[in-house]
Amino acid sequence: MTLCIALDMESSRENIKLLEEIKDLKGIFVKVGLRSFIRDGISFLDTIKSIGDFKIFLDLKLYDIPNTMCDSIKEISKIGIDMVTIHASSGKIAMKSVMESLKDVTQPPLVMAVTALTSFDDSCFFDIYNDSLNNRVLHFAKLAKECGIDGVVCSCLESKMIKQTTNLLTLTPGIRPFGESASDQKRVANIQEAKDSKSDFIVVGRPIYTAENKREIVLKILNNI
Ligand code: C5P
Repeated sequence: MTLCIALDMESSRENIKLLEEIKDLKGIFVKVGLRSFIRDGISFLDTIKSIGDFKIFLDLKLYDIPNTMCDSIKEISKIGIDMVTIHASSGKIAMKSVMESLKDVTQPPLVMAVTALTSFDDSCFFDIYNDSLNNRVLHFAKLAKECGIDGVVCSCLESKMIKQTTNLLTLTPGIRPFGESASDQKRVANIQEAKDSKSDFIVVGRPIYTAENKREIVLKILNNI
């Protein structure tokens, strides 16, 4: 299981400070999501690379028509990052074409398809999809598999079922390593539950930022995984 730290803090200064504190630690992915990317752009990714040997996960959750998604993924592949997200609900044509667009790229990023956001519970999900969350998440995972996608984003509550059915990689946000506050996340899990769910990548944001000593909590997470 690999730790992905979400760099969602209020300023790039705070994100950079955290990176400086943990730059000697090996095998960590750092997740640049919408907030940081909109504010700090591609130059922030260069800054991350200059600080340490971090793997970069660009969490832009692409969702658009196939042509726009392909154009975007081609641009992303030029930046030199290690993992990227798209939405599984963008559909088969979009997912297939995204993978097709990466086939000549020398070191393509892992493409992970978002199934259901971890801020959804069953009832929020039903309002949108008129289907049970488990059913639809599994369906999305099967579609992603058919399209050659590397893995899916889901919660730990679905990870094991997805791995048993599709053997895709799973990336699970909504992690509260030692039972911290869930905030807006609904489908949360602690580290032991993440391990039991066979998750390949866990995403942790706020439990790290809100800790007094951020390096200490990162080390504690690493020791436990
Ligand atoms: O602060 P917290 O640990 O809840 O951060 C989770 C991160 O994972 C956020 O950056 C959020 O955008 C992202 N994410 C998520 N649920 C998904 C996909 C991504 O929470 N399904």
